[in-house]
This record gives sequence, structure tokens and C-alpha cells, in this order.
Amino acid sequence: MGVTARTMLRTLFPDGLTKPPSPTRGAHTVQYPHVKEEPVTRARGVIGLHHDNCTVCMLCARECPDWCIYIEGHKELAPPRRPGGKPRQRNKIDRFDIDYALCMYCGICVEVCPFDALFWSPEFEYSEPRIADLLHDADRLADWMDTVPEFEGYEAGSTQKKRAVPQ
Ligand code: SF4
Ligand code: SF4
Repeated sequence: MGVTARTMLRTLFPDGLTKPPSPTRGAHTVQYPHVKEEPVTRARGVIGLHHDNCTVCMLCARECPDWCIYIEGHKELAPPRRPGGKPRQRNKIDRFDIDYALCMYCGICVEVCPFDALFWSPEFEYSEPRIADLLHDADRLADWMDTVPEFEGYEAGSTQKKRAVPQ
């Protein structure tokens, strides 16, 4: 208790008890929203959805520990790959929502997506007065794609192929 009190006083009055308090000097926090912190490039802020890559496989929804991804889709016929071939069946998205009121930002959905349809954006300013508005639909998730930064290169000597963010 004594240590806590001494640390608190030293933090609030870095120039001594006779001088005015200066609680922000040396602080590791910023005075948001007056000061906006710059998140690191790969920060888990919000998830962007690239529609064209999503095959409605449902893997992300099944693996999400919070069950906060809601997907609905339907099958439709696509032209055959080769002339004279059989028409193919393709899944189309009807609904793709993520409820950020439930999401715990674990990143499992982004990691398990086999088709590179989900990406992290560092954007974090999407708080809402109504909790229901934290449900982002497919269009809103697609809009976040504009804020997804390019992947950084790997260390020199790495043979890993650099991933690209689809446009
Ligand atoms: S980050 Fe985790 S909790 Fe959030 S939607 Fe993805 S899997 Fe679910
Ligand atoms: S986002 Fe990825 S894992 Fe989720 S349904 Fe679409 S393709 Fe499957």
C-alpha cells in the first residue's frame, strides 16, 4: 500500500509536492480523443472482408470461439471452365456479419480462412452509442478493406512468398 501511494504521488507530482501536478509527463498512455495513438501496422483493429475471395465455406464461423460471425449463402451456376464442360456450382454470399460487441479479436477467423478473404485493419475508431450498431454487415466489412495496410517484407534470406492484400 505504501509503495503504491509513493508511486502514485511521484507520478502525479514529478517535480515535488510543492509544484503543480503533471500526470501526463512520462506516461505510457495518451489523452484520447485529444491525442490519437498511431497503432502498429498489423494491429488487430477491425476485420476487412474481400468478397471475391470468400467461398462461403463457413470455416471462420465454425472456428470463431465467440460464435459472432453470421454467414448465409446460396449456390448458383457458373459457366464451365472449358468450352463444352459442365457448368460449375458456386457459393454466393447473402449475409456476412461480424458482431464486434462479441468479438474478442483473437484473429482465429483471419488465420483459418483458406482463401485469403479476411484481413486485419488497424482502424479502431468505430465505437457506437447503440451496441446493436457494432454488428458490421458485408458492405461495412468490405469498406474496411480500404484501410488494410500492405504486408511488410520478410527478413533478408527468407524464402517465404510475401502475401498481397487484394484490391
Ligand atoms: S477475431 Fe476471433 S472472436 Fe473475433 S470474429 Fe474472428 S474468430 Fe471470432
Ligand atoms: S471468409 Fe474465408 S473462412 Fe470465412 S466463409 Fe469466407 S472463405 Fe470461408
